[in-house]
Amino acid sequence: MRTGAGGPDPCKGTLWPDRRPKGILSTMRPTYQVTELLGDGIGEELSRAVHALADALPVRLEFLPVDLTLENRRARKDAVYDEAVEAITATTVALKYPTVTAEESPNQVLRRRLDLSVIHRPVYTIPGVPTNFRRELDIDIVRIATGGTYDDPGRLIGDGGAVSLRIVERKPVLEAARYAFGLARKTGKRVTSASKYTIQKATDGLFEGVAKEVAAAFPEVPHNVELFDALLGKVIMSPEKFQIILVLNEYGDFLSDMACGLAGSLGVGASANLAFDAAAVVRVALFDAAHGTAPDIAGKNLANPTAIFLALSMLLYQVGEIAVASAVKSSTLDLLRQGVRTRDLGGSESTDTFTAAVAAEVSRRLTPAAPAA
Ligand code: NAD
Repeated sequence: MRTGAGGPDPCKGTLWPDRRPKGILSTMRPTYQVTELLGDGIGEELSRAVHALADALPVRLEFLPVDLTLENRRARKDAVYDEAVEAITATTVALKYPTVTAEESPNQVLRRRLDLSVIHRPVYTIPGVPTNFRRELDIDIVRIATGGTYDDPGRLIGDGGAVSLRIVERKPVLEAARYAFGLARKTGKRVTSASKYTIQKATDGLFEGVAKEVAAAFPEVPHNVELFDALLGKVIMSPEKFQIILVLNEYGDFLSDMACGLAGSLGVGASANLAFDAAAVVRVALFDAAHGTAPDIAGKNLANPTAIFLALSMLLYQVGEIAVASAVKSSTLDLLRQGVRTRDLGGSESTDTFTAAVAAEVSRRLTPAAPAA
């Protein structure tokens, strides 16, 4: 939630509400409330790193912590999730640290309870992250997080076969499509929608129909349609041709892992989980790192905070702080390129020293240059 920046309006004409302050408030240091979902393992070190980086930003992030550690989840059961849902609904944006999946998956519970129907997963080549793929990759996967073949485990028909339903609903497709095209408008990128519409005529036909409808409302955004199997080959052969890819649930699942494998960034990626209001505007957004709790290195000051910094950058982008978001992302990636890396990436930095380097670089980039004498 935005409580208190001026300048040109990068959000204008998009589907995101502009939460930056207006009028007299625009001269104050803008403040945003952020629900912070505390997790397990390296979660504590990552939270410390995020706070240290946040202190270096020209915006104020007011963190509202909710304890999602396994111990607290076991002690308080549903009450923890009630608290998390209430906090996220109020702040509208949340940053989540990794959590142990034990009795339940907190990610799944939160997705269900907050109706997080779309996952935005940027995947790009990160300098210093080893990969077998020799090409540059930079794509935004916008995936419908519900339905497809994943909502019905299916049933056996005697012992001779099995059947399951494939569900495609107009509402989440519309939400995902409007988000993808809004993102394209904001960033000047193209959208590719991909499915098997020639075979799955009803389900994938509906998906492509909605994508075309939304495309018509964004005439300045280039849009093309690919068959999903062909798309996989084309992303490998000509990655530069793809920017934002809109896909149904299971296709998004396959594509995300393939793209992350190509970029070698399984452990340093981040994503946004999004819920929408009736007008298909983002209602709440939960940002998290792709990696887990890394119990083998927890408490040793070895955790790489790159993914959580990239998640924080996405959060800042979501609230409209484009320049700050961009500085967080570019500073982190440029330092990796220059060899300032934690041990998992072959470097010698600790969580704390890497964080301090990113904070100093962000600060340097966002401090206005002194006028020439
Ligand atoms: P993991 O990602 O935690 O660890 C795999 C390997 O990567 C380990 O060697 C670990 O040290 C390393 N690693 C991971 N993140 C790192 C970081 N930021 N910096 C440096 N090294 C890092 O995967 P796992 O071991 O399969 O899972 C551990 C726990 O995490 C499990 O309980 C699992 O349920 C949970 N998990 C949670 C999430 C989530 O909350 N989003 C995601 C995946 C796994």
